[in-house]
Parts: sequence; C-alpha cells; structure tokens
Amino acid sequence: MRWQGRRGSVNVEDRRGMRIGRGAPIGCGGLIVVLLVSWLLGADPTQLLMLFQGGEGVGTPSTDVQATTGEPDDQLGKFASVVLADTEETWREVFRKRGQAYVPPVLVLFDGATQSACGVGRSEVGPFYCPIDRKVYLDLSFFRELNQQFGAPGDFAQAYVVAHEVGHHVQNMLGISERVAAARSNADARQANALSVRLELQADCYAGVWGHYAAQRGLLEPGDAEEGLNAAAAIGDDRLQGMARGRVAPESFTHGSSADRVRWLRRGLDNGMIDACDTFSSATN
Ligand SMILES: [Zn+2]
Repeated sequence: MRWQGRRGSVNVEDRRGMRIGRGAPIGCGGLIVVLLVSWLLGADPTQLLMLFQGGEGVGTPSTDVQATTGEPDDQLGKFASVVLADTEETWREVFRKRGQAYVPPVLVLFDGATQSACGVGRSEVGPFYCPIDRKVYLDLSFFRELNQQFGAPGDFAQAYVVAHEVGHHVQNMLGISERVAAARSNADARQANALSVRLELQADCYAGVWGHYAAQRGLLEPGDAEEGLNAAAAIGDDRLQGMARGRVAPESFTHGSSADRVRWLRRGLDNGMIDACDTFSSATN
C-alpha cells in the first residue's frame, strides 16, 4: 500500500501508555486466544466486554499520561491514521452521492485496556467499535498477532482490519446496527447469530468498498487485494474454530466462513457501492 508521506487523520485519540485502575487481568493465555479468535469470528464485542468485566468494576484512567489527539508520530500510529483518513475520504464521497453527510468515527489507540462507553475494552478482545461513543478501539499489537498467529501479513491486511471496524461505524450511521439489534432481540439464538453473521459480512463488504476507492486513487500496489483477501480467509470461522476448542459456546460466535468473508470483501472491492453489500437480502451468507 502507498501510505508513506500521506496525510493522516486528526480523528485519532492516542491513549497508549495510559493505564486504567482496578480490574484484574483476564485469566489464562488460552482464554486470551479465545477472545482474540472471537473477535475474528465476529462476536459482539459489547457482549464480550460485559462477560469479562464481571464484577471487577470499571477502571478509571490514571493521570500520569494524558491522551493526545491528532496524527501520531510513530510509524504504526501514522499508518493507522493514514488508513483512517482514507476511509474518511471514501465514505464522505459515498455518503455525498447519497445526499447524506458522513461524520467520521474517532480512532482510539490504546495498549492493554481502556475505557469505552461500551465498557472496558481490553486488547485481548481485539479491535472493536463502540456504537455508543462512535469510536473504533485498536491496540496496534493486534497487527502483529494478525501476522504471527493468523498468517495474514502485510499493510493492506492491517488496513482491512481498520476498514472493517469503520464499516461497523457506517452501519451505525445508516441505522443498520440498530435495526439488526432490534431484530436480534426478537429472534431465537440461531436467528440472532445468523443476523450477527450478516452484519459482520457486511462490514467486510464495506471494507471492500473502501479498498475499491483506494484502488481508484492509485493507493494499492500489486498484491494488496490478495493480502486483504488472504486476511479475510485466514480469519473465517471454519479455520479458526479449531483454535477456540469449544471453550466458548460455538453458537454464540457463528460467523462467516473464510469463503463467505472473502466473497463479501471481494464484492465490495469490485463494486465499490453500499448497495452491493446487502448481506441481509442475500439467500446465502
Ligand atoms: Zn466486526
């Protein structure tokens, strides 16, 4: 991806180095893998946050390091902010064509754990979007995990992770998340999970829409699309389910298979249109 030397977004809140008080660390390493996998499987992060917050109480930010806003100085932080700026450009354009105004999300960079309006976010849960404060939460160490644990290296694969979370913000802005949440509350477990899968696949497709525009702007290099598709394949549930080893009830984390995720990301990449991402009307995942 061509990102060096390009403008980054100022909608970044850098909380790295900050610590939150109280709250015990989450159990064993195995559980951490399960949590990470659950993100990749498309679990609802707010459910997870509540699950693992338990009775710990909510931490309060310590005051030794202050959060900064604006474009970060370090390589990885810069990269994330450039990708975010790219998504802003893309979605502003897409929304403008629909006669709507796009209000971008804030990207919160953190390490370890941080407070969100959806509860305490921990890096073990993986990147997540909180619809209440409209922020994307990302611990950049997840990029390393993506490479080492899931065999999905490359900057475009990392950009796809950011674009997927921004996809959830777009769903929120379009009122889709709200409609799905309402439908889920009236559905049985199986139907509710099926709806979550469609929501996740749509976020993949929206990530593809961003990729489509990035390609048009000449930002992609040969192999980038494949990198993203490889990442989508690497984090499909059929490949990952073995890693979860049944410690988390599988029916609560049903999600798109590798093939489904690749297909919807590809659809977004090829079409570059919101309307091409109607995963809910599709007969199959
Ligand atoms: Zn997601």
